[in-house]
Amino acid sequence: MTKNPSDHAASDQPKLNPGDQAEPGTPGAGENICPECKGSGRIGATACPICSGTGKVVEGIGGA
Ligand SMILES: [Zn+2]
Repeated sequence: MTKNPSDHAASDQPKLNPGDQAEPGTPGAGENICPECKGSGRIGATACPICSGTGKVVEGIGGA
């Protein structure tokens, strides 16, 4: 079957965190403080599962 070239490119995309709603660098998207951990990157003694401990999530602002 025909291979879609974009499949290979997709594998090069940065891994999104569970809380991300858009890819980093996407026009209209921006980083926001993670609402789950309030930007601390941690929930108690463990890394926040929403932002993977970064304290930030990428949200789409353009309303896509
Ligand atoms: Zn978080």
